[in-house]
Amino acid sequence: MMPPECAVCGRDLRSDPDLKFGQVSFANFVPLDGPGHPKGLVWFCVDHLDAAKELSHLASPEAIRELRANL
Ligand SMILES: [Zn+2]
Repeated sequence: MMPPECAVCGRDLRSDPDLKFGQVSFANFVPLDGPGHPKGLVWFCVDHLDAAKELSHLASPEAIRELRANL
């Protein structure tokens, strides 16, 4: 599992210790049996989490591209 870092704005717990994060699983989500970070499961800060959830029908690279374009 990766530590939280927003895929849109790049903030993380080191830059913003009080920021809340959540994960969204996208259309390309593949669960992992072992250790590591599953494909298609992405962290977002609270400012970008809702917009990310609305794009969860897309594959994660496509959704992230879309979210960054709308910044
Ligand atoms: Zn963010």
